[in-house]
Amino acid sequence: MQLKTAIHWFRRDLRLTDNPALNAALAAAGTVVPVFILSGWRGQHHWTGPNRQEFLCACLQSLSKNLEAIGGRLIIRDGPAEHALEQLVADTGAQAIFYNLDPDPFGRVVEGKIETLAKRLGVTVSSYRDAGLHERDELLSGTGLPYRVYAPYFKAWSKKPKPAVGPRVKSLRLPANVSSLPLPTLEHWELRSERARLIEAGERAARQRLREFVSVNGAASDYAAGRTKLTGRTTSRFSQDLRWGLLSIREVYHETRALADALDRDKRGHVEKFIGEIAWRDFYFQVLHHFPEVLDDDFSPATRGLPWRQAAEQAGIFERWCTGTTGFPIVDAGMRQLSALGFMHNRLRMITSMFLTKDLRIYWRDGEAFFMRKLVDGEIASNNGGWQWSAGTGADAAPYFRIQNPWTQSQRFDPQGDYIREWVPELRDVPPGRLHMPLADGLRLAKDYPPPMLDHSQERDRTLEMFKRHRAARSK
Ligand SMILES: Cc1cc2nc3c(=O)[nH]c(=O)nc-3n(C[C@H](O)[C@H](O)[C@H](O)COP(=O)(O)OP(=O)(O)OC[C@H]3O[C@@H](n4cnc5c(N)ncnc54)[C@H](O)[C@@H]3O)c2cc1C
Repeated sequence: MQLKTAIHWFRRDLRLTDNPALNAALAAAGTVVPVFILSGWRGQHHWTGPNRQEFLCACLQSLSKNLEAIGGRLIIRDGPAEHALEQLVADTGAQAIFYNLDPDPFGRVVEGKIETLAKRLGVTVSSYRDAGLHERDELLSGTGLPYRVYAPYFKAWSKKPKPAVGPRVKSLRLPANVSSLPLPTLEHWELRSERARLIEAGERAARQRLREFVSVNGAASDYAAGRTKLTGRTTSRFSQDLRWGLLSIREVYHETRALADALDRDKRGHVEKFIGEIAWRDFYFQVLHHFPEVLDDDFSPATRGLPWRQAAEQAGIFERWCTGTTGFPIVDAGMRQLSALGFMHNRLRMITSMFLTKDLRIYWRDGEAFFMRKLVDGEIASNNGGWQWSAGTGADAAPYFRIQNPWTQSQRFDPQGDYIREWVPELRDVPPGRLHMPLADGLRLAKDYPPPMLDHSQERDRTLEMFKRHRAARSK
């Protein structure tokens, strides 16, 4: 039976193309109320900073324009979601609420509340999988257990047929006189801009990135080699688009799969490497789904209780990492890129997170929170997975004894020092060869650049000792 009015609750699916819940709402009802509900917190947030919220504001502006272009309007309400939706049902007489599911536990709690609310109000709720290609419990091992290791997960992931891409919404009709708050600015959350140079927001910009990536000379067909380069557009830069649903992951998959199938064997391998990376995203979604305790503790029981330092007790040291003044040029370049763009190259995320955990021995949760506050693409599951990988505590993590040497990483991935010079201007005139090794005691690479804050090989030995002692104590 056709409904008169339904609500589509936009969450992290800020697009009109291939939006399963929105398409279903439009198929079910004559008029649809597209609403975004602003989170209710104000002031400092442990996991959210100005960059991601600023990007969100720009995405909402773009979504609002896109809806207006097809006859609709974006309704903005203030949270908590269950209160806002109850009021919206009362205001519009909607008989149903549609939304796409959130892959993280916080979103799931809210979904539980909406289901309870809907029962009380006598409206229906329809929810759809959208964030991952395969998520929640879609892929389980032969014994019916969740995967803990990526390789067998990826094998199963690759074999499973992928959901198809849905259509783009062409028109939308709202009921009359639905009130809305204005589109938000950072002030809504009492945040001040950090003036980072954020990537262009909105569905159109994201679709342009997708087109460029899969085009004839795009980065996809050289991805496996290009992704190791630290400068230039060598990776997709889709992470914030997938985080906010500006792109559908199904479309990303099918576009890149089609490209891979059209290429010769050598080139195909590059695109398939990329497809393997989006599977990591699904892998971490399912880790978080099945093991939500990873948000509070190590995934691996064997490493729980290691005597890490806490950032709060190491304020000066942690601060130097945050501000990119460790005296390790490659680490500082990564941290400064993060501050300047709200983005950091994957290799640098690995180098800087390993430096915090294995050289400074600061607990990964402190770094995890700092990244979440800065990153435009801050994705709870992937960020947690990445941090626990580096700390050696996670699902399919780097073994504790494999500690990357920041000097060697620097030499290997930035031999000419282009990346370092881009982000650490004090080092602009230092010859490349001197950027990748510590100088003799007390010497500086440049007048206004600090000497390295620690000796990597000493700290490496101490970290190994910490892990070994912990293992020995556990096996007693
Ligand atoms: C410590 C640490 C923290 C991280 N935090 C985040 C985060 O908050 N949000 C986030 O999206 N990614 C995170 N990553 C993964 C990765 O660094 C970024 O996805 C990638 O750098 C984004 O750039 P891109 O879109 O150009 O990636 P590409 O190389 O083009 O990859 C394509 C897409 O695949 C996914 N992807 C790639 N690598 C990974 C990975 N290792 N784990 C999960 N998904 C991956 C992303 O969605 C990415 O957009 C983190 C990695 C580490 C080591």
